[in-house]
Amino acid sequence: MTLIHESFTRLFPQKEFTYIPELEYNRRLSSFNANIKLHGKKLKVCLNLQWKDIDDEIKIGLIQHLLLKIFRRKSNPTTTTNIDLYNNFTRNIHLVIPKTKCDPVLAASFERMNTRFLGGSLEKPNLQWGADSRRKLAHYNFHNDTITMSTLFKESSQEILDYIMYHEMLHKHFKFEHNNGRSSFHSPAFRQAERMYPNWKEIENKIHSVIRSTPRKRVQKKVKKGLWRFFG
Ligand SMILES: [Zn+2]
Repeated sequence: MTLIHESFTRLFPQKEFTYIPELEYNRRLSSFNANIKLHGKKLKVCLNLQWKDIDDEIKIGLIQHLLLKIFRRKSNPTTTTNIDLYNNFTRNIHLVIPKTKCDPVLAASFERMNTRFLGGSLEKPNLQWGADSRRKLAHYNFHNDTITMSTLFKESSQEILDYIMYHEMLHKHFKFEHNNGRSSFHSPAFRQAERMYPNWKEIENKIHSVIRSTPRKRVQKKVKKGLWRFFG
């Protein structure tokens, strides 16, 4: 039995597996990413090569998580033992990710926010500048433990940079909380922690003016070219 077949059968014990499974490991997907496609009877799962040496029980959880995305039924289980294993694994991926990117300006901002709001408890992720995106100001990707900040904020004030940094750090701090199998990224606890930042309302207004004052054309062209992609 293939891994896909096994995952399906454990997830849907009443259903017959009538698909042609195909499992592919590749380097095209980003760090610890994966996807699933159903074309007619062909059920194809692609995994980043990093998954190859990971325990099958965890991989079954990942595949079940993907299967639930394409076979949506109200009667579906919201989680399984394997999905729980997979979620625990992804929560700890940051421990095995090498820390190679550490921009000094972003690192200084990280240290300030860590000391001020998190008692220095947060382990430092990779920190890098991205494109000058207006659509996404910053992003925390738990697959490669990286905070990416839009270069739109390279010239802005420290309080703006710090506020956005703090927001992304909270994503790492809270990871993803699961409610009925759905991930919620901005939970009430997240928002409450975010509001600890003094003058947050005023800073959000300033962020909007930074976005408004950036020439639209230049930025949109870059977004179109797909230089800025997001995961998770
Ligand atoms: Zn967010």
